[in-house]
Amino acid sequence: MKKRILIAEDDDASRELLAEHLASWGYEVVQAQDGKEALAMICSSPPALALLDIQMPNMHGTDVVKTLRQDARLSHVPVIALTALAMRGDRERLLDLGFTEYLSKPLDPQILKRIMKRLLSPSEKEEEHHACHDSDAPRIN
Ligand code: MN
Repeated sequence: MKKRILIAEDDDASRELLAEHLASWGYEVVQAQDGKEALAMICSSPPALALLDIQMPNMHGTDVVKTLRQDARLSHVPVIALTALAMRGDRERLLDLGFTEYLSKPLDPQILKRIMKRLLSPSEKEEEHHACHDSDAPRIN
């Protein structure tokens, strides 16, 4: 079954381009045009992961994530911040607010793809980790 990803972005061209990438990677995509719409959609049907633009009309991405993190039912949903503001300290500030990851625009699709894969399959990551310990770690005799 396809994993459902929510994209919230007020710029139509950016949102649609992003949606095309995600669909081509095998995800089911739902789109919101502003923060308020994103919050309503996430609350009514929590996605496997959400991508939130920061600067949006009605409600900023930062306020959406703050609200999600206060709701026990939604606090586990991975949320990636998408922002044009690439300033020193942004990453720490956004992670403190409750974002799981942070990417600055313009997005590199390959980096996004890798991060999404990692956030969506924690169990696979753990298995890889164990496999690494079992076979690849240097041995001392
Ligand atoms: Mn925006």
